[in-house]
Amino acid sequence: MTSCAICSLIEGEIIWTDNKLRVVLLEHQDYKGYCRVEFISHIKEMTDLDETLQFNIMRCVFKVEEVLRKIFNPEKINLASLGNKTPHIHWHVIPRFKEDPHFPNSHWGEKLREGLHQPISAQEKKDLIALLNQSLSQ
Ligand SMILES: [Zn+2]
Repeated sequence: MTSCAICSLIEGEIIWTDNKLRVVLLEHQDYKGYCRVEFISHIKEMTDLDETLQFNIMRCVFKVEEVLRKIFNPEKINLASLGNKTPHIHWHVIPRFKEDPHFPNSHWGEKLREGLHQPISAQEKKDLIALLNQSLSQ
């Protein structure tokens, strides 16, 4: 058994995958559309991957960003790869809005206001999955 949160897929719903990568949608009432792009195997650093896989994961991150911009028209997209607690390659792709609880701080930073508490709607989720599958199958 692994204690790795990414290997164990302890949160989120897989909305796209191939044999190496997956896109996971996190249900978050203040950060709708919050996705993570995860490498399926337990690999620690981007430079542990060969160039093709490095390219493929970044392509996937940018496709997710593109689709999130189309659907949510956010103020900014935040991309983050930290993994200090979970040393397994994963990229956070987070649509940010002026009204979100932490803007302009990082969403892990100091909370400045209450959020809107508007989780992703069924239609937005449907659009996200459809556009992502269309975009990543090209
Ligand atoms: Zn892992």
